[in-house]
Amino acid sequence: MASQPQNFDPITGLKPSENCAVVGYYGTSGAFDKLYVSLRTLQHRGQEASGVAIFDGRRVNLLKVDGYVFEGFRPYIESGQVPQGNTGIGHNRYSTAGQKNLTGAGPFLISTSNGDMALAHNGEIVNHNALREELKEKGVPFLTKTDTEVMLNIIAREMKLKGTRAGLRSSMDILKGSYSAILLVQGKMYALRDPMGFRPLILGKVGNDYIVASESSAIDVLGGTIIRDVDPGEVIEFMDGTYTSLIKNPSPRLSHCMFEWVYFARPDSIIDKQEVYDARLKMGMELAKEFPVTADIVIPVPDSGRTQALGYALQSGIEYSEGLFKNRYSERTFIMPGENNRDTAIKIKLNPIKSVVEGKRIVLVDDSIVRGTTMKRIVGILRNAGATEVHVRIGAPPIISPCYFGIDMKTRDQFIALNKSMEEVAQIIGADSVAYLSMNGLMKGIGMTERELCLGCLTARYPIKVEGELEVRQATLDQA
Ligand code: SF4
Repeated sequence: MASQPQNFDPITGLKPSENCAVVGYYGTSGAFDKLYVSLRTLQHRGQEASGVAIFDGRRVNLLKVDGYVFEGFRPYIESGQVPQGNTGIGHNRYSTAGQKNLTGAGPFLISTSNGDMALAHNGEIVNHNALREELKEKGVPFLTKTDTEVMLNIIAREMKLKGTRAGLRSSMDILKGSYSAILLVQGKMYALRDPMGFRPLILGKVGNDYIVASESSAIDVLGGTIIRDVDPGEVIEFMDGTYTSLIKNPSPRLSHCMFEWVYFARPDSIIDKQEVYDARLKMGMELAKEFPVTADIVIPVPDSGRTQALGYALQSGIEYSEGLFKNRYSERTFIMPGENNRDTAIKIKLNPIKSVVEGKRIVLVDDSIVRGTTMKRIVGILRNAGATEVHVRIGAPPIISPCYFGIDMKTRDQFIALNKSMEEVAQIIGADSVAYLSMNGLMKGIGMTERELCLGCLTARYPIKVEGELEVRQATLDQA
């Protein structure tokens, strides 16, 4: 995330951002309709651009559009010009690696000796720059600076040299980082998940057809049934009307991104067998146990803090109230540089409900805090509306370090929590107190251990070697 963002969403714009949704549909009729519905369902994972790549029985056809799924595809749907075919893949983009334009949006499509090959990818390949240079040396041309284009070319090269299974297996050894990806090779489809399972990927059935998606909610909305998660390190092949687990290559130490449960994923999704809503509710309950406060009402920062706030209220017995009205009709993104304009922007989007707030001691709950600038404005709004005390409670431990695995948090200087006590943060944002959920509380909420989760941005120790950063294993050895 740039330190001076031009596109400023007063509520979510300064939160960490997700970097994509992927969907694959292996079916017997109209893949576009299913991909369209799934991509709309997964719009929260990326709003910059969307695309589909669909096999028409002879070749793979690509359609990419800017912005929201329903807006971008509308002219093509209205004119009946959508790609035809029964099997295809789709992608919503939030860019974290490479340029932010339609060329850099997924899916990527290349023509190979194995036929047309398209790839939709969620995650981030940490060694993509080195791999791109290596491929360029061999004469491979690149249209973009994205990691997905590198990934697709590596897979194409390895499959050509070694065949499907061995080629995909060796690609997994070469590609370091996070990927939940769907590959289309003519009419065959492959679902790939990196050995540590950073990003979610789930398999389901819709009638006699199969679907793979970033989140289970996309399967629900199509009226489908969940079969299971794609396992970390697994490649599933879809051909001849069925699916087969082609490769099983899990890492002994898993690294599911804890932020999927904290903030990114939809609450109605189930990720790696843990329901997101349930995890958030428990995080809020743990937070109330760890950092109780005497107050009159618990209110959420809408919409991100809602479930954790409910958990806090249930556990503490303090009344839950909606003290902030979120204007759902204001634009998603404000292009309003300058501090004063940002104050106006947040007022357009969030307004206090005075009768709820006035004269009250408030527990204000959000799921996470990055820069603290938005939280500072919200605390100010509540005080101006007559709140007598504002105690901020955050449903995740402090973020202190960048993410290298697909979330748009790239520089250390943006984190308010880095090298600051809770008292210091409270002073900066003008709150009476600030407290974060502990690491133990987070793991209890999600229902996983540190050997199953990536906690890199919370601990500054990463599960994969990243240039200039400490690895989890290395940190353990250093402490021994
Ligand atoms: S570093 Fe943080 S945001 Fe990135 S994958 Fe790990 S837990 Fe998720």
